[in-house]
Amino acid sequence: MGVLYFSPMLLGICLLLAIAVSATALRFMVPTEQGPGFWMAGCWSLIGGIGLFIGFILTHNPWLNVLGNAAQLAGEALFLLGIFRFMGRPLPWWTVPASAGVMALFNTHYWLYAGNSDFLMGVYSTIAGLLPAQAIWLLLSARQDSHTRPAQLLVAISLVIYSLATLLRGYLGYHGWWHDQPYTQPYQSFSYLLPYNFAIPALVMGFVGCTLMTTQRVLARSHRLAEQLQELATRDPLTGVLNRRAFHEHLQQELARAQRYGTPLCLAMLDLDHFKQLNDRLGHLGGDQALQRFAWVCEQQARSCDVFARIGGEEFVLLMPQTGTAEALRMLGRLQKALADERQHYQQQDYALAFSTGLAERSRDESADSLLKRADQALYAAKAAGRNRIEVWEAPLA
Ligand code: GH3
Ligand code: MG
Ligand code: MG
Repeated sequence: MGVLYFSPMLLGICLLLAIAVSATALRFMVPTEQGPGFWMAGCWSLIGGIGLFIGFILTHNPWLNVLGNAAQLAGEALFLLGIFRFMGRPLPWWTVPASAGVMALFNTHYWLYAGNSDFLMGVYSTIAGLLPAQAIWLLLSARQDSHTRPAQLLVAISLVIYSLATLLRGYLGYHGWWHDQPYTQPYQSFSYLLPYNFAIPALVMGFVGCTLMTTQRVLARSHRLAEQLQELATRDPLTGVLNRRAFHEHLQQELARAQRYGTPLCLAMLDLDHFKQLNDRLGHLGGDQALQRFAWVCEQQARSCDVFARIGGEEFVLLMPQTGTAEALRMLGRLQKALADERQHYQQQDYALAFSTGLAERSRDESADSLLKRADQALYAAKAAGRNRIEVWEAPLA
């Protein structure tokens, strides 16, 4: 029996040591995350408790057993507190002194009055088996944080297995005590196989789940950060539409695609008319609002494959893939009408928005710079011809 008992115990200690080292690594790898600190403290306390228990086996000093059991329960409670911390819930601190304290009192009483180790094991296992109930409930009932949900369920299931194995062990203890089975040293009792073969591996699985929860949270956060950086790099902060840099990438891509498939591509350069006057009349904030309104109307009118961007103060571009000049003119006409139909207001002041447009359709093998230059020249012509109009700059004959 002793041989049977000692090998799973050593295995259990090795497993606990492994998760204690991992929890320590996790704690220092992600120092700002909530939870790993408790998992680290909990694991080391569990190992400390088992160390004291081994001391008790070697020396038969009952106080080592009292301390050992208390340290193990405190460790388990600390481990569970980490889950509450991770989930951002108030910590049930009372579970640490309550579980360790009750156990120490029972233990002391039983050793002083020559008690039965089976009953003691029953008490220990009842406390240890019921401790995770709150954390299990929390993990199963929490609905927020979808990224970490699968790992939360893994932790919950592991804790359920841990609890069942531990409570079964407790039952065996009470059963032995009730039927007055002859006194056996705890380390010679068969039911000690349960914690080391089942409960500790389940706890290890729970810790793996905790690590996954933490990793998933860190990954989700860095993903959000990357998205924000991407947003900052490609969007114009005032209007939310693409910025000049992002537009140039789209232009290169669309031009290459159009050349590859021989499809038409139109580029319109849009510039608000007399915007300086409007700015002077409404003030800078009013001007900003007008730019936002203009961008909003353009985005509404643009088709899903069109690329709309702000490339300067009150200068915008609309790239229309697979669109020839005639269709682009119809599209821009609709935009002009939509804008003219909208009455704009800023602080009880009415104002109208109008824009001039330079349109150019790509010619064979034309570069992006050349297309942009022609649209710009067409825009210049539209301004010179009196504004609020569209000018087309024909491609030079190839
Ligand atoms: P035109 O009809 O010839 O285009 O005349 P315009 O007044 O629209 O053009 P101009 O280039 O002379 O003036 C553009 C004005 O746009 C000047 C600048 O103060 C204003 N502007 C540029 N960026 C912003 C911005 O982000 N917010 C605001 N409110 N105004 C801006
Ligand atoms: Mg202007
Ligand atoms: Mg301008």
